[in-house]
Amino acid sequence: MQSVFTVRASSWGRLFDCAHAWEGTHLLGMRKPAGMRAQLGTAVHAGTAAFDRARIDGTVCTPDDAAGVAVAELHSPDREVDMAQDGLSLAEAERIALTLIVRYCMEIAPRLKFIDVETTLDPLEIDCGNGLTVRLTGQMDRGRVADTEGGIAINDVKTGARAVQDGQAVTRGHAAQTGTYQLMYDATKRVRTVGSQIIALSTSGRAETAISPIFDARRVMTGDEDRPGLIEHAAAMFRTGLFPPNPSSVLCSRKYCARWSTCLFKG
Ligand code: SF4
Repeated sequence: MQSVFTVRASSWGRLFDCAHAWEGTHLLGMRKPAGMRAQLGTAVHAGTAAFDRARIDGTVCTPDDAAGVAVAELHSPDREVDMAQDGLSLAEAERIALTLIVRYCMEIAPRLKFIDVETTLDPLEIDCGNGLTVRLTGQMDRGRVADTEGGIAINDVKTGARAVQDGQAVTRGHAAQTGTYQLMYDATKRVRTVGSQIIALSTSGRAETAISPIFDARRVMTGDEDRPGLIEHAAAMFRTGLFPPNPSSVLCSRKYCARWSTCLFKG
């Protein structure tokens, strides 16, 4: 019998950070409310996507219009948000969002030639042998596709207090998600992307922005001749049904892990 395991692009990072937490959320249905910082990220993405979408469509969306989209998203979350979870007030979140949106529209977007925003991608099934299939899914709701000098690249917008460090966009930990987007985009559009790029928008008080160099994220997923990639490592977990805990994860806390209250291994 064929077993199909579905992994959303955005959840690959968590699968290899703490597989036990991933199992709790994605196989056992454990949930927890988002914090204000996550909602700030959602709002910034909504505003920047509105701006980029308008440029592709040839319609008008000013930085003010984009800021308006972000503020509306902040005030009307479509999921449960725990406003007190991470000590960020709605007013402060709004101030950071407005600063970041303006900087994005004025400094980042003009440097990139986007050809796709918020693209819907076809699920991609990978036969991992012995009756096991890994199904890649995920909408590029935070991703863009840019036409660069080297070819087509996936651009993923990342927000967070540590998204920019020493003036550089942090790419560590993002290759699994963007590599999945590369594989799915290639299959959906019948092209071959040249790599991925992180657009980092820091939600710390300094509201820094940075763009990373293009890097080969696809290889992280598929591996190479001598080394298995993450898809094969994930298939091994799915085959055995063993999802190892990682109490050393920086996300091992009541705040970030939906399995925390019942987890035997929590740090
Ligand atoms: S509490 Fe820690 S070890 Fe347990 S599932 Fe969550 S992140 Fe993993």
